[in-house]
Amino acid sequence: MPVEIYRRGLLLVLSSPSGAGKSTLARRLLGADPDITMSVSVTTRAIRPGEIDGKDYYFIDQARFDKMRKQGELLESATVFGNGYGTPRKPVDDWLAAGKDVLFDIDWQGTQQIVDKLPNDLVRVFILPPSAEELRERLIRRAQDPMKVVAGRMAEASREISHYAEYDYVLINDDLERCLDELCTILTAERLKRHRRAGLSDFVNRLQDKL
Ligand code: 5GP
Repeated sequence: MPVEIYRRGLLLVLSSPSGAGKSTLARRLLGADPDITMSVSVTTRAIRPGEIDGKDYYFIDQARFDKMRKQGELLESATVFGNGYGTPRKPVDDWLAAGKDVLFDIDWQGTQQIVDKLPNDLVRVFILPPSAEELRERLIRRAQDPMKVVAGRMAEASREISHYAEYDYVLINDDLERCLDELCTILTAERLKRHRRAGLSDFVNRLQDKL
C-alpha cells in the first residue's frame, strides 16, 4: 500500500517575457498533473479573440480593480503595459490549505510581492526564449496584437529578462517537451522537500514506536 504523507501545497510561479512559450507550458503542465491548479488573475486589459472570461482572466474595469486592491482581496498586483493585473487571494489560500499546488503566470513585480508574503511556499521559475529572433517570430506569429504592440512587448521583454536572477530556476524554452520535462522534475523535487511534508513527523514517530 502506498504511504501517503500530508504536505502543504506550494505556489509555482512561472515568469517570462510574453511569447517565450509560458502559456503553452502552463497548459501542458496542468493537463499532465491533477494536483496543480491555475490561479486565474484579474486584469483591466481588453479581452483578446479566443480568450474566455473566467478562464484566461477575469476581465474587470479599473474601478473594480482599485476596489479589490483597496479591500485586500489581491495577493499581489502590478501594472503591466499600462493595464492592471492581480491575483485573487481567497482561492489561493483555500487550495494551499487543501494540499493543492497553485500555478501562477505573473510578472516579476507580482513574484516579489508573493516572496514577501509567503516565502516558504514559493517556487520561482523563469522561462527564457532561445533567442531574440525566435521571440520576435513567436510574437508576430501569435498575431493577436498590432505591430506597434509587438514592438512594445520586445522592449518590455528586455526589462522582464533583467530579473531572471531573482528566480530559483531558469529554463530555456528551445524545446517544449524537454522544457516541460524539466518543469515536472522541479515540481516533483520541490514537493518532496521536508519542510512541505507536514505529515512526516507523525509518520516518523509511528515508525520509531515500532522499532
Ligand atoms: P498578457 O496580457 O499577455 O496576458 O500578460 C502580460 C503580462 O502580465 C505577462 O507577463 C503576465 O505574466 C503578467 N500577468 C498576468 N497576470 C498577472 C497577475 O495577476 N499579476 C502580475 N503581477 N502579473 C500578471
